[in-house]
Amino acid sequence: MNQLLCNLHHATLLLVVNLLIFSTSFSQSSTYKNDSVLIRSIYDDVLVNGEIYENLRSLTKGIGHRLSGSHQADQAMVWGVDLLKKYEADNVFVMPVTVPSWSRNDIANARVILSGGKEETLHITALGGSVQTPKDNPLRAKIIVVKHLDELKGRDDVNGKIVLFNRAMDPVLINTGAAYGGANDQRTFGAIEAAKAGAVGVLVRSLTHSLDTIPHTGAMSYEKGVPRIPAAAISTVDARILAQFFKEDPNLEVEFTMNCRKYHDVEQGNVVAEWIGSEHPNEIITLGGHLDSWDIGEGAHDDGAGIVHTIETLRLLKAIDYTPRRTLRFVLFINEENGNRGGKKYAEIASQEFERGEKIYIAAMESDAGGFSPRGFNLDASDEYYDLFKSWEKLFEPYNLYHFKRGWAGVDIGPLKKLEHRPFMVGLVPDGQRYFDFHHTENDIFENVHKRELELGAAAMASMIMLIDKHLPTTK
Ligand SMILES: [Zn+2]
Repeated sequence: MNQLLCNLHHATLLLVVNLLIFSTSFSQSSTYKNDSVLIRSIYDDVLVNGEIYENLRSLTKGIGHRLSGSHQADQAMVWGVDLLKKYEADNVFVMPVTVPSWSRNDIANARVILSGGKEETLHITALGGSVQTPKDNPLRAKIIVVKHLDELKGRDDVNGKIVLFNRAMDPVLINTGAAYGGANDQRTFGAIEAAKAGAVGVLVRSLTHSLDTIPHTGAMSYEKGVPRIPAAAISTVDARILAQFFKEDPNLEVEFTMNCRKYHDVEQGNVVAEWIGSEHPNEIITLGGHLDSWDIGEGAHDDGAGIVHTIETLRLLKAIDYTPRRTLRFVLFINEENGNRGGKKYAEIASQEFERGEKIYIAAMESDAGGFSPRGFNLDASDEYYDLFKSWEKLFEPYNLYHFKRGWAGVDIGPLKKLEHRPFMVGLVPDGQRYFDFHHTENDIFENVHKRELELGAAAMASMIMLIDKHLPTTK
C-alpha cells in the first residue's frame, strides 16, 4: 500500500470511528433525554393529579389495621382487587396463601410493685405470637435486667423470674434500619433464651430511638422443646424507669396480664395485578409492598405507604401513556409481619414457572420503609448490574435522590433471591430518621404520613420501574 492510499485509509477509518462515537453518544444522550422527560412527566402528574394520598386514607381510615388472618385483612384484599381493576390492570387475581391467625385481644397491663408496697403502672403490649399469661392468675415475679441474650447463659438466678431486655437501638448509626436490625434479637429470640434459663416471662424494650411511653409490638418466636413464656414489649421510658428501680430495689416484683391467643390458620392471599408486556410478556418485573400490618394503629407507614406507592405506579405509568416492554406485576403481599408466607409462596410459584419455561422473573422492587421523603434506592443484585444501576443516578438528581447503593431490597421480595436466575432487586429508600417513632405502634396512622412526601415516593418508584423495564438487558 502506498503512502497516499495509506493516508486515505486512515482518514476513512477515522471518519468511521468518529461517526460511531458520535452516533453512540447521540443515542446515549437521546435516551437520557427521553428518560428524563418521562421521569419529569411522572413527577408532574403525581404532584398535580396524584390519587395516592386519598387511596391511603381509604385503606387506613376505611379498613384500619389488618393483621394476617383478620377480617380486616380480608377487607383489604377486596379493597386492593377493586382499586387495581379501577386502574385498568390487564388482569387481577388473588394468589392463595395459608396464613397464621393470632389476636392480642383486649388485655395487656403491667405494674411494678416496689418492696415498700409502692406501685407504678407500666406501658406494655403483647409481642406478636405470644402466649397469654396464666388464666385467672396474673404473672407476678421478681425480675432480672440484661442487655444481651448471651448474658443469660450459665446463670442460676433467672429461674422463676421475668427478664427485662433493655438494650437500646444504637444511636450512632445513621441508618436507623441497621440500628433496628442490631437490636431486634432481643424481641425475636428473647423468650426462647429466657425460657431456657428458667424465666417465666419477658419484657422487651421497644425498638425505637424515641423516649416515650408507647410500646412497639413485632414478631417474636418460640422454639420446639422450650417452654413458651409470655412476651411483651415495654415502652422505652418504662424500660428505663424499671431498670433504675431494679438497681435501687432488686427485690421489686412485676405483675403482668395478657389474653392474646393463637387461632387456626386461615386462607387469604397475595393480591396480584398484571400489565402485560408488549415485547417480552414472559419477563416479569415485580413491584410491591405488604398489605398486612400489625393490629395496632392503622399500618399507615408500615406498609400502607408501600401498598399505595405500588398502586400509584400503575396509575402513573398509564397516565403518561407508557407502554411496558416486560410484564409488570403489582403485588400486595400478605403476611410479611408474622411469617412472610406471602413472599415465600410468590417465590415458590416463580420458581415453578421458570422450571416449566413459562416465565422468568427478571426484576423486583419493594417499598416497605415508610412514606417519608425518598432519598434513593438500594440495589440487591449480582455485580454485573451495578454499573447500569449507577448510570441512572444522574436522572434522579433534580428530585434530590442521591442514595444509589448496594443494600437490602425488601422482606416480601427477599425469597426471589434464591431463584436460579437471580433477579435485579431494588428497595425504595425513604428518609428513615422518624420511621421507628411510628413503626408497629398505635401512632402508625394516616395523620402521620405527609401527602407530598408520599407522592414523591410513588414518583421515585414509578420512575425506577420504568428504567428497569426499558433498560434491563433481555434474557436469552
Ligand atoms: Zn413492613
